[in-house]
Amino acid sequence: MIPIARPVLGREEADAAAAVVLSGWLTQGPQVAAFETEFAEAVGAPFACAVANCTVALHLALLAVGVGEGDEVVTASHTFIATANAIRQCGAVPVLVDIDPLTYDMDPDAVAAAITPKTKAILCVHQMGMPCDLERLLGIARAQGVALVEDAACAVGSEVRIGNAWSRIGAPAGDVACFSFHPRKILTVGDGGMLTTANPDHDRFFRLKRQHGMSVPDTVRHSGTRVIFEDYPVQGFNYRMTDVQAAIGREQLKRLPAIVERRRVAADSYAALLAELTPQIAPPFEPDYARSNRQSYAIRLPEGADQKRVMQRMLDDGIATRRGIMNVHQEAAHADLPLRFPLPHSEAARDRCILLPLHDGTDEAVRRRVVQSLAEALA
Ligand SMILES: *Cc1c(COP(=O)(O)O)cnc(C)c1O
Repeated sequence: MIPIARPVLGREEADAAAAVVLSGWLTQGPQVAAFETEFAEAVGAPFACAVANCTVALHLALLAVGVGEGDEVVTASHTFIATANAIRQCGAVPVLVDIDPLTYDMDPDAVAAAITPKTKAILCVHQMGMPCDLERLLGIARAQGVALVEDAACAVGSEVRIGNAWSRIGAPAGDVACFSFHPRKILTVGDGGMLTTANPDHDRFFRLKRQHGMSVPDTVRHSGTRVIFEDYPVQGFNYRMTDVQAAIGREQLKRLPAIVERRRVAADSYAALLAELTPQIAPPFEPDYARSNRQSYAIRLPEGADQKRVMQRMLDDGIATRRGIMNVHQEAAHADLPLRFPLPHSEAARDRCILLPLHDGTDEAVRRRVVQSLAEALA
């Protein structure tokens, strides 16, 4: 059986986790601090703050840019449901816009058309690791005086061109970028998240809020030689990452450049195999402003193909696939949201795409088997 994804974990991660357990300090502490420093450097951000997962990172990012009750946040429907859940957690209203059918990312023209006097922020999603057109989205956000928050859950290691300069996702572009370390992403610690920003006030806000709104972190009290009484100036949450997760993350970060490189090679090889065996299917489109980390490899089935039947045929061949990314507006959890715009490209992407397995277990021979099976399923 060929799974859809497989995390890259080894002895190094296991030893790092064991060392933390034996150290006696398990919660947010020195490993979290070191992971934050190393992550900030890896993506080129002035500040990085670790949290429990990307969903709570999105919640804190939206709060930091001032999103509250009744505000509108323009975002994609074609995304994992957590993107919309985080907006509603703030009491705000997700205004769902359609995607560009080639990149699966929010269409900047649709974003511009969705801005109203109530809009507080744009929450863009670098879907499947493919960077959005940040230059255009930044232009819209600045012109309209709204914040730009990036859901970079899938996009660690991806790069984007703004003007003539390439930078990594997470380097300051929008106000805040949010990452996920769930096992379905390419860097994992089990569950975890990270917020990067160039704004020191935002970073202070994240650190306060993630730890119950406590004025003094417990690491400081623990190492203090004088008695320190903490206070609680604001209401906070428990959104901490543990030191066990951070120690694993530090090992994962060392692997990241090689992981991304291998994924890009595999994606190029899939493109060549598709051209050879299923010329009716185009490989994923990469715009000239983006270099994807290839977190997921989505192909669009030809008109008339039965998505479920193709996936079942491939499963019968021992190959796991997934259908296209879900759409928030098609789920009962958000059925109460008034739709301002039709979302035909989002609906077609969910119903006509399938994701092919791409990981260290899919070598050239396996990839050929996958595309061969796809070709037979389509025949
Ligand atoms: C995975 C994912 C999330 C949620 O990340 P968690 O770390 O599981 O909370 C949010 N947005 C997108 C686009 C994702 O793919």
